[in-house]
Amino acid sequence: MNNQKIKEITKRCSTCGKDMEITLFEDKSYCGGNYFFVLPHKVEYWECDDCYNE
Ligand SMILES: [Zn+2]
Repeated sequence: MNNQKIKEITKRCSTCGKDMEITLFEDKSYCGGNYFFVLPHKVEYWECDDCYNE
């Protein structure tokens, strides 16, 4: 496996407002948060691990 890290971005949790460090990888996977794509508004929606696990 050679899954290169592309970049790190900061996203804010849509539920609690906490900032998250998201790491993006070459194969389009990521870690550090949980991503949703909300239709029909086509907005990004991020949740931190704490909110996601509730
Ligand atoms: Zn949260």
